[in-house]
Amino acid sequence: MNQPPVNTMSKPLRIMKFGGTSVGDASSIQKVVEIIRGAAPDSGLVVVVSAMSGVTNQLIEAATQAEAGDCTTFARIFDELRRRHDAVLKALILSADQRSRIAHEMDKLLREGERLCQDTMRLRELTARALDSISSLGERLSAPIVAAALAECGVASEAIEATELIQTDSCHGAADPRMDVTRRLCQARLRPLLGKDVVPVVTGFIGATAEGVLTTLGRGGSDYSASIVGAALDADEILIWTDVDGMMTADPRLVPGASTIPAISYRQAAELARFGAKVLHPKTLRAVAQCGIPLQIRNTFAPEHLGTKITPGGPANGGGVKGLTAISDVALITVGGPGIVGVPDVLGRTFATTAAVRANVLLISQSSSQNDICLVVSTALAKPTVEALRHEFAQDLAHEKVEHITLDPTVAIVTVVGQNMRGSGIVGRTFGALGREGVNIIAIAQGSSECNLSFVVSRDNMKAALAITHREFQLDALNSPALPAVAPSGGPSAWYAESLRARVDAD
Ligand code: ADP
Ligand code: ASP
Ligand code: MG
Repeated sequence: MNQPPVNTMSKPLRIMKFGGTSVGDASSIQKVVEIIRGAAPDSGLVVVVSAMSGVTNQLIEAATQAEAGDCTTFARIFDELRRRHDAVLKALILSADQRSRIAHEMDKLLREGERLCQDTMRLRELTARALDSISSLGERLSAPIVAAALAECGVASEAIEATELIQTDSCHGAADPRMDVTRRLCQARLRPLLGKDVVPVVTGFIGATAEGVLTTLGRGGSDYSASIVGAALDADEILIWTDVDGMMTADPRLVPGASTIPAISYRQAAELARFGAKVLHPKTLRAVAQCGIPLQIRNTFAPEHLGTKITPGGPANGGGVKGLTAISDVALITVGGPGIVGVPDVLGRTFATTAAVRANVLLISQSSSQNDICLVVSTALAKPTVEALRHEFAQDLAHEKVEHITLDPTVAIVTVVGQNMRGSGIVGRTFGALGREGVNIIAIAQGSSECNLSFVVSRDNMKAALAITHREFQLDALNSPALPAVAPSGGPSAWYAESLRARVDAD
């Protein structure tokens, strides 16, 4: 009988994922190497890396320009990518052999990308498969560099493409893993390396179908890669290393007073991620839902900060508002008019239409008089959705049963995420505070889970709405404890061990 494999290593197994900024240039990669070197003596480690910051965007731009027939632009992008990766390689890898080996590998990958762009230009069609192959190149370029940088500092490592590890469905651009096969692949490929104290450096963001066709997991999907690999290996912990001090009470770029949430439950973290907290890919917690592996979100550039710990249950006193999120690249569609009450199955037809254009509806609100149905979709799909709705309700519009189907592209969704929000006065406090400061609310939705309250405001009011709500719930008072910035004597390894101990004490 097949026994489920468990972590049989004497040292705890940690998955460490480093995001785009963390591997964005040579000095950042040096910090990554220090963190890994510090953790290696006390842990089995699997590293998952993103593409260097901005690279995936550039690759997608190259692919899009190829489809439009603009070979000058995609050639320029590939030149820029070649120069940037070469510069990092030169700064980090002193061994001539290693350097020329990686340079050769990188050249092969970049040529592959250019060839795919040329094919796309010839066909004037960018297929989902080609887009995945082109946009995955960033991770395939960064993983060998990070692995070589580790080897250069004495940490045995091997770059591995996740196409060997993560088997997915064929939903290009948003693939999901087939966990049973993924588990077998990860155990078979990674366990032997871990047994020899070799650190695998795995490409984030990508996988492959059973037929071996490369897929991507969705933008920002390297977090998801880390939790998939963690679940497949029964890891003890997953650490997401990024460019901020953990999961915060709001996006610090939008709310300067945002503070780190020291501990949070899977459910609340997933809710924050789903409503726009970019620091964690929304599907990350899905992969570990069954096994309950704890996650930490830490800052590569301030590793002494304890960041956020995410566990299935969260902290014991986890009630109240935890954080705020905002999504700004959305549009509000209204299907309305007094006559709408008499239109048969208006809701069913509305959502059948949004499903047909594959528009993910982020928020719905309907007044009890049923005069208006408001839905919020991503800006990218707003126009096709409105066109499809006008087509669906053409007859009703002609007979003025439905008076209007309108689009407002200047809105944003703000969400208050918390736990046990029922009966806690959170709704009243939120709208009271916003009303006092003159922020107009366009639509409201509250999940029956009592975990979130979302509302639509004009995009011009988004920052103000976040600041007012943040102040109302005193979220800037949540600051988590940080370790002293100075590493204790004993070097990075001692420092890292101390950081892990302090983390446990802080729970
Ligand atoms: P990485 O490249 O490391 O994956 P991302 O850019 O994907 O990093 O995510 C980190 C960014 O997420 C931060 O720089 C921050 O601006 C943004 N962010 C949005 N909401 C939050 C939040 N609630 N807490 C922390 N960061 C957030
Ligand atoms: N490089 C990919 C992206 O930019 C995946 C990631 O960074 O997580 O979307
Ligand atoms: Mg990210």
